[in-house]
Amino acid sequence: MRTLLLIITFCLLLTSAASAQQPTATPGSQQASAQSSTAPVPVPEPSEKAVSYYRSGILLWIVNVLWGLLIPALFLFTGFSARIRDWAKRIGKWWFFVIGVYFTIFLIINFVIDLPLSYYQGFVREHAYGLSNQTLGKWFGDEIKGLLVGIVVGFLFLWIPYLLLKKSPRRWWLYTGLLAIPFLILQILVAPIWIEPLFNKFGPMKNKELETRILALATRAGIEGGRVYEVAKSEDTNALNAYVTGLGATKRIVLWDTTIAKLDEDELLFVMGHEMGHYVLGHIWKSIPFFSLLIIVTLYAIHRTAGWLIDKYHRRFGFTELSDVASLPLIILLFSAYFLIVTPVALAFLRHNEHEADRFGLEITQNSRAAATAFVKLQQENLAVPRPNVLVKLWQASHPTLGERIDFANDYRPWERGEPLMYGHLFK
Ligand SMILES: [Zn+2]
Repeated sequence: MRTLLLIITFCLLLTSAASAQQPTATPGSQQASAQSSTAPVPVPEPSEKAVSYYRSGILLWIVNVLWGLLIPALFLFTGFSARIRDWAKRIGKWWFFVIGVYFTIFLIINFVIDLPLSYYQGFVREHAYGLSNQTLGKWFGDEIKGLLVGIVVGFLFLWIPYLLLKKSPRRWWLYTGLLAIPFLILQILVAPIWIEPLFNKFGPMKNKELETRILALATRAGIEGGRVYEVAKSEDTNALNAYVTGLGATKRIVLWDTTIAKLDEDELLFVMGHEMGHYVLGHIWKSIPFFSLLIIVTLYAIHRTAGWLIDKYHRRFGFTELSDVASLPLIILLFSAYFLIVTPVALAFLRHNEHEADRFGLEITQNSRAAATAFVKLQQENLAVPRPNVLVKLWQASHPTLGERIDFANDYRPWERGEPLMYGHLFK
């Protein structure tokens, strides 16, 4: 499941191309607002709790990476995957169902194996640091829903790459990668209306005055008929977040209710300006070809190595062709390994988009101070470390570090010097 999550995360990197910044969990400090409105906002030192969360997070990241390689390797080298395929053949009979049944059994076993680690990291640890409000029932319910969504999606789509593997053993990686494009578009299109509401309640904004200010900002950003949703995230977390999602008729800006509660109006308007930047600069559309290319490169690498491993270990694996569904843990294992190499490239792309969205938000609101104090609150509420180690940044940061974002908000004020704005031509 953890390895599968990696793959899903990879696809979701697309949607996260639009997400604002990571959230936080403790009440914001007053120190920033006590200063004059033109003085730069200092980057606060991280709290002891934040440093401890950061350090244990690195350890947990390493555990997850190793776990993500170990579990599929065990499925493979013990021949267990081949046994699941034999069960699936007995239950499913017809090729299409064999793949679906294999996937369902595989996912459920992984879910159970991963449960202790998921429980520690998603529930125990988040509560220990005061980041989570979730009841055990809600946490477990969400896990089960995630599993069911995984099974349905797998049943609907996993047969496609296996059909391509069978029909075109030499070019399957290219065709699968190309088909990932409509799949990604479909996912971005339907996730906000079919998937996300399974986990939290989405509704219109409750504060109508604030909504009016946000919609006025949207009009200036050239966004017509933009919709802003408030999501009841406070039942899950204390962290702050906002993001842009969907495409066409389903596109929307989503604000966590925690963010509305903890940021003041000017800070919230900057965050909205940032989100509108993603929208107007077309980050979702630009991400699709970028990630499709990364997927094709990764699948090609899998294609080149998988055959060699099968030649060498087919007796232990219990299959001789990659088109045998028992190969799924092999594909996941190789995907996890190559994913580690590809991650810094993908994250650098996302950080670039986030930086440009920050620039857009600053230019449209021209309120550097509100931007900087919003970042300070994010740092404090989300237990973030403002200047993480460079390796942590390269392998984990989908956004510029909060230290960099606060520095940029303090320094970037072309409007004060009468210099042209980079995105001024886009404003109405
Ligand atoms: Zn963003």
